[in-house]
Amino acid sequence: MIDLPRHNAHFCAEHLQQLCRRQMAKAVDDFDMLSMEDRILVAVSGGKDSLAIWDMLVEAGYRADGLYIGLGIGEYSTDSGGYVRRFAEQRGLTLQVIDLRDDYGYDIPTASRATGRVPCSACGLSKRRLFDRAALQGGYDVVVTGHNLDDEAAVLFGNTLRWDIEYLARQLPVLPAANGFPKKVKPLIRLTEREMAAWCLVRGIDYVVEECPIAAGNKHLAYKESLNAIEARSPGAKSAFYLGFLDRMAPLLAGYSAAAAGQLNSCERCGEPTTGDICAFCRLVEKAAVHDPVPVEMVLSKRARKAYS
Ligand code: SF4
Repeated sequence: MIDLPRHNAHFCAEHLQQLCRRQMAKAVDDFDMLSMEDRILVAVSGGKDSLAIWDMLVEAGYRADGLYIGLGIGEYSTDSGGYVRRFAEQRGLTLQVIDLRDDYGYDIPTASRATGRVPCSACGLSKRRLFDRAALQGGYDVVVTGHNLDDEAAVLFGNTLRWDIEYLARQLPVLPAANGFPKKVKPLIRLTEREMAAWCLVRGIDYVVEECPIAAGNKHLAYKESLNAIEARSPGAKSAFYLGFLDRMAPLLAGYSAAAAGQLNSCERCGEPTTGDICAFCRLVEKAAVHDPVPVEMVLSKRARKAYS
């Protein structure tokens, strides 16, 4: 049995699965995320959320393949890649793998040092570009990511603390295909981390439990901890915060989002959309691929180094 205070109930394994299926289906329907005809590419990291959503989509009858990107973040990447491969093999699912070091000549710690970007910025840029590219080249209709309610509420909290209107306007569970970008959707926005961990447990899904070592001590985790403290005092506050934003605030920002999209050019090197002449990803690869490899320990913050050692 799992106790879910926000639903004011205890759930057995069967009812927990029903709850998860229902919440995913509601998110998909409410935001017109997917159709049964779509070819879906799931961005999988080896963590509970991305493996759970892949499992849920396949179980529901969707045509979903996986894409894993080896980021070169020490043992964390070695372990997470193993979990993804075993998950796909055991279920006979199609998995594509990109290894940044083998395929592009760099890894995230090296890209961070070579470009001066913080590691998560180099990582986010690499993942976004490679998921988009793989979806378009592979003829997929939509990219699915495993962002859950806790992730989205934490991002919303951070964007609100800074009143970052541009990010707030784009913080939507569906980004339609446009300007050379594929459609992207987040079917887990109505489900929490805890519910996804429980889904994996009852479905026998093994996943990498450790967080990326670079995440330790970052602001995103601090926002999650703050929201968890509020949720403990006031069950349901997190979903009211995020789902209320989607319902009442996001429509007011829709015009801002369209205006901010601006005019895009084609990158002179790769042909993909960019605001300048050469896209940020091509510039990152150019610098990182000629830089001496940098071990992950060298790019950890002081707090992350303490947690890693
Ligand atoms: S925490 Fe790790 S996996 Fe996540 S964006 Fe940062 S570097 Fe990438």
